[in-house]
Amino acid sequence: MPDLDDLEALSAFRRDLATWFRQHRRDLVWRRVRDPYAILVAEVFLQQTRVEQARGYYARFMAAFPDLATLARASEEDVLHVWAGAGYYRRARDLHRLAQAVAETGLPTTAAELEELPGIGPYTAAAVASIAYGEPVAAVDGNVRRVLARLFAVEEPGGRWLQKVAEGLLDREDPGTWNQAVMELGSLVCTPKHPSCATCPVAGFCRGWREAERYPAPRQRAQRRVEAVALVLRGEEGLVLEKRDGQSLGGLWGFPLAEGEGALEVLLSRYGLASARPLGTVEHVFTHKRLTIEVYVASWPGPVEDPGSRPLSVLDRKILALAGSSIGHEDQ
Ligand code: SF4
Repeated sequence: MPDLDDLEALSAFRRDLATWFRQHRRDLVWRRVRDPYAILVAEVFLQQTRVEQARGYYARFMAAFPDLATLARASEEDVLHVWAGAGYYRRARDLHRLAQAVAETGLPTTAAELEELPGIGPYTAAAVASIAYGEPVAAVDGNVRRVLARLFAVEEPGGRWLQKVAEGLLDREDPGTWNQAVMELGSLVCTPKHPSCATCPVAGFCRGWREAERYPAPRQRAQRRVEAVALVLRGEEGLVLEKRDGQSLGGLWGFPLAEGEGALEVLLSRYGLASARPLGTVEHVFTHKRLTIEVYVASWPGPVEDPGSRPLSVLDRKILALAGSSIGHEDQ
């Protein structure tokens, strides 16, 4: 098997992957532009959203905020409203803060400077700097990690090792295209399960293909199970919604919610109610916790909100859907 330390092998490896990418790359709207802001927005969506889903959210976001200045002028609530459904709302708040920080000066052009901005980690900084500005820096995301671990048959690739190997393979003449080619290989061919080694353009350089799924070893993620209660308080013109705070859902609006023992009593006493009727259960998974939410409903004579005019998280939309379906049943 050719050794990628050998310059001739390395150049054949680059050529084979680049040829494959030219022929098989997906036609994604953000790949057709050179606008650094558009590339940044796409990369922020792609941090935790699959390409197929990101397409729709990206299009909606760019239609509402086509440039840095428009995004900087918008209110946080408007930004969250447009972002709603894409999850990981901290990304939206950081992008908004970033726009406000650089609206006057424009985006910086190097990975090191980009990394100083809110919400921009090493991967996003390298992706934007290489794709938009041609800086020769390697972008290492989950796809690249998997491809490199398999190419070199390494079960537990560390961050430094990954960056060093990725920099060694990087085509410094066209780093943006190269970074996208390695990521695309991970998305389309070297997939987490059942990689298509038989059609892989770099199979001849791969040490791990015989047991590809062994590399990299799965990362253990502790996920807490949490019980919670949500209250749907119905008024004549709408529902009671509270503005959330905290890292994951801060700035969004949602139903009164409490976690842990005595959660229902906490909510009832917050609104001065004696009781509420059980409506059903909603499950929602965050990165580190799995929420099981018992939803209760009661009438409410006080002020209410129109849920359609407030940015709601996916979790609250599930509760809203449950409340809506129960209205349908009651009407029948
Ligand atoms: Fe991945 Fe298989 Fe290609 Fe190796 S040969 S890089 S394991 S798809």
